[in-house]
Amino acid sequence: MSRLRMALIANGSKTLSDVKLLGCIVGDSLRCTPFVCSDAGSARSVAPHTAFVLECVNEGYVMAEMKLHDFAANETDRGPFIPTKLANNPRAGQWTSERLSQDMVADYKRFLMTDGEGIRCSLYVSGCPFHCKDCFNSSIWDFKAGHEYTQALEDHIIEDLAQPFVQGITYLGGEPLLNTRVLLRLSKRIRSEFGHDKDIWCWTGYTWEELMRPGESQDKMELLSYVDILVDGRYIATLHDSLLQFRGSRNQRILDVPQSLAQGAPVQWSKLHDQERFIPEIYGQERAEGEGKA
Ligand code: SF4
Repeated sequence: MSRLRMALIANGSKTLSDVKLLGCIVGDSLRCTPFVCSDAGSARSVAPHTAFVLECVNEGYVMAEMKLHDFAANETDRGPFIPTKLANNPRAGQWTSERLSQDMVADYKRFLMTDGEGIRCSLYVSGCPFHCKDCFNSSIWDFKAGHEYTQALEDHIIEDLAQPFVQGITYLGGEPLLNTRVLLRLSKRIRSEFGHDKDIWCWTGYTWEELMRPGESQDKMELLSYVDILVDGRYIATLHDSLLQFRGSRNQRILDVPQSLAQGAPVQWSKLHDQERFIPEIYGQERAEGEGKA
């Protein structure tokens, strides 16, 4: 049996037997099929919402608990709803692309309408140390997940962006601000091929205030200089709201980066438009009520 690495997160459970498995990596390939891990053992009690890495080597298990830290406990002005006990809070400059990134990408999707304004291409870089509870992409917290970023992929992205109906590219993860080697290279090429005809959106677990702290690494600022729109902040499950446009929790913001840099303070995207009611639910109810009447 090959070496198996699995990303686990306790699902409010008391024992490991009903821990929910969110994804697994076999060798170098990502297998992301969520299922309930019932055979992981039941003797050990676990705290609710605790993240684990469980390594299975042949018949044995090696389990390491991943503690969530507030490294920046004495720092102020870290942005809305930060710090949180549910996700790591780094000190300024503590996490850098230079130390963490393996230049890996988990996925690339083209011609989507879900990751920002208009029809877009989306690049998912690998690795995120924030470890938010209920992260939508915990299977790629590992900086080694996925595939190497290659020249062939970059050429493919540029070809897709050249389509006249494509508005721009979106960087997601993982944590884009901790994968700056890849994204600076791509951003420079996009600006050299298309100027500002294609826009760049970026999702990050950092808040704007954290990125602006003295001592934060320069490559983050350099990448921000290419980004048009930044969706900032950790995903905080207790602040989840399905009505938000392009965000998962109420602490997150959609920021106009050039305006924010010019004004020295976070400036909200002028086209922000959150829903006022949950339309899919209403449609679902109407469909259910109408069934059998026709
Ligand atoms: S910052 Fe985003 S990718 Fe990282 S753990 Fe939080 S939700 Fe997941």
